[in-house]
Amino acid sequence: MSARLARALLDVVLPGECPGCGGAVGLGTPDGLCPGCEAALPALPRFVDPPPFVVAAWTLGEYEGPLGAAVRRGKYGPDPALVAGLGRRLARAARHRLPPVDLVTWVPVPLSRLLRRGFDQARLLARPVAGALNVPARSTLRRVRGGEQAGRTARERWREGRRAWRLAARRLPRRVLLVDDVTTTGATASACAAELLAGGAERVYLLTACAARRGGGRAMSDFLTSFDD
Ligand SMILES: [Zn+2]
Repeated sequence: MSARLARALLDVVLPGECPGCGGAVGLGTPDGLCPGCEAALPALPRFVDPPPFVVAAWTLGEYEGPLGAAVRRGKYGPDPALVAGLGRRLARAARHRLPPVDLVTWVPVPLSRLLRRGFDQARLLARPVAGALNVPARSTLRRVRGGEQAGRTARERWREGRRAWRLAARRLPRRVLLVDDVTTTGATASACAAELLAGGAERVYLLTACAARRGGGRAMSDFLTSFDD
């Protein structure tokens, strides 16, 4: 029996681990979250303050909550199936909340991380959202500057962010929805939105799986890494 098959059989027999809280979870729960974490999550995305160049922004959960834990587990696991499941959750939530858009795009991970991890978590989130909104999902941005952002101050993030992305697409439609896994300071989304506007978009909206509480203090800025990947 292959290791993969053995693992699959074990998953059927034994309860899994909730990606939100680490607790045991029974069979058949959607995208693996336990009932407690499910109950803590809103069904609809809520408005958050849009960063500069973004018309309106929504997020589904808090970075400090179960959804944030699931996002981190999916991203760093790495566990692309978990991220894809979160994408379907985000898509269900987005369907009845967002204004009409013409295109869905995402904040791409740097190439080095894509090669190491094997997937781009923002792309995995964006594609089901595009499907739910019945519009195409297209890669439009390219990371041109790398560098670790964890531990940097908000000011440094904003300064670096302005130079970090370049438009890699032509003829953008009027209304573009930018998707990312996490928003913290908004510097990343703002820098990407500026590029999209320069590329012909007239309105850029932002949807993230989770958002960090603003003003979370130094401890928060030490571990937040939304900017680099
Ligand atoms: Zn849980």
